[in-house]
Order: sequence, then C-alpha cells, then structure tokens
Amino acid sequence: MKKILLAPIIILFSIAAILLENCKKQDDISYIEPEKVDSLAFTDAEINLIMEGDSADLMRVLTIHTITGTDTITNYEDSLILRKISMDVRADSTDTVLLRLIDRLYTTVRDPNHPGVGIAAPQVGISRNVIWVQRMDLLGDPYELYLNAKLAVYSTKEVVFNYDGCLSIPGISGRTDRHSAVCVEYDKIDGSHHVEIVEGWGYSNFTSIIFQHEIDHLNGILFIDRIHENTKLMNTKEYEKFCKLLGEPVIEI
Ligand SMILES: [Zn+2]
Repeated sequence: MKKILLAPIIILFSIAAILLENCKKQDDISYIEPEKVDSLAFTDAEINLIMEGDSADLMRVLTIHTITGTDTITNYEDSLILRKISMDVRADSTDTVLLRLIDRLYTTVRDPNHPGVGIAAPQVGISRNVIWVQRMDLLGDPYELYLNAKLAVYSTKEVVFNYDGCLSIPGISGRTDRHSAVCVEYDKIDGSHHVEIVEGWGYSNFTSIIFQHEIDHLNGILFIDRIHENTKLMNTKEYEKFCKLLGEPVIEI
C-alpha cells in the first residue's frame, strides 16, 4: 500500500524538477527586442521608385484599365495598388525622398498630355498620404500640397457632382454622390497642422469635390464607387454630349 502511494509522489516531484529546470533555462535566454517598424518612413521599394527619376520626370500613372480602340483591358496589378489604404508620412522639409515625390507628383498632375486638377500618391504607385489639389476657390487657382489629409467632417448637404473623372480611369466620366462642403485636416511640409473648411461643387469651382476625390484615393476608393443611383458611367463621347446638354464646358478632373 505504501509503495503504491509513493510512486505518484515521485512522479510529481520529477515533473516539478523538470519544470523548474526549464524555467532556469528560459531565464538564461537574453531578451531579443522586436524590430521596431517606423511606419512613417519610406520603404526601400518606395525610395527606389521615387528616386529613379528627377523632379521634372513624370511618374507612371496607374490605371484600372487601358482602352485600345473598342477593347478595354483590365490592369489587375494597378487596380490592386489603387485599392490599398495609404500610410501617413512624416512632414519634414529636409526629407529628400519626400521632396522628390512631391515634385514628381506635381510634374505628373501638370502633364500637358494628361492634365488633372488633383492627384494622390497611390496613383503613381506610392501608397502614402500625399496629395496635390487645385484650389479653384483661391485667386489664381493654385495647386497646393497636403500631407496626411483626412476628411474630419462632411456637410450634411448631399449633392450630385456632374463631372467626376480620374487620371486612373481613362475615358470614363460619371455623376457622383458627394457633399457640398468638407472640413479637411492636414499637415504642411513644415510640420504644421491645419483644419480647414472647403466649399465648391459647381463646374467653375469644385474644390470640395477634388478634396473628396483625392482623399478617397488614400482610402482605396474610386469615383466609380460613388456613382449616383440610376445613372451610368459615360464614355468620352457620351460625356461631351452630356456637358453640351447642360450648357457647360467639358471638365478633365
Ligand atoms: Zn482620381
């Protein structure tokens, strides 16, 4: 009877001794700190793409499709990048990579062959929160740069914008559901933070729409996701006809 009781006790002591030994071994292992990732810093791949050209060099605009004659070919790889969520950047006027991206993005949106009123970094393959917006609400319609832009508040007044289009969706236009005004939060290159209310959704000033369109890009959203109910996407000919009907000029957004 005594022998039978002793056996489990010996087993228990043995297990405890093994566990204790393992704990000691664990203590011997020096703690390795996990690698800290600086999410605001550009990756090597981003740096390579940005720095492979000078400030005056265009960047390739990613497009969801290519239209050749009557054929439309889907660009799968570009589409996937355009649907990604962009990361913020560190606003730093001494960062040569950021400055080069800003310059090349500006060169690209002002390309006389494919001019735009706004552009977002993901459209050139850099999933970062950097946008240029033409300020139609300011004297001289200047292009202005915004970093880490976010829409803080939408106006409750919903509007249908007649002229949405995109450098990344060539040959297509449409009428979209938008807001008449937005409150935008952003950083400037000097690191200062700003909050601003922007208005304008008519054909002579649609600055508020440009902000909505470009900030959508930063969240992987395209204007075709916001098409007004019961309307269809228009090709260039249909769009020109539509503008004529409204008695308003054709706009390239
Ligand atoms: Zn666009």
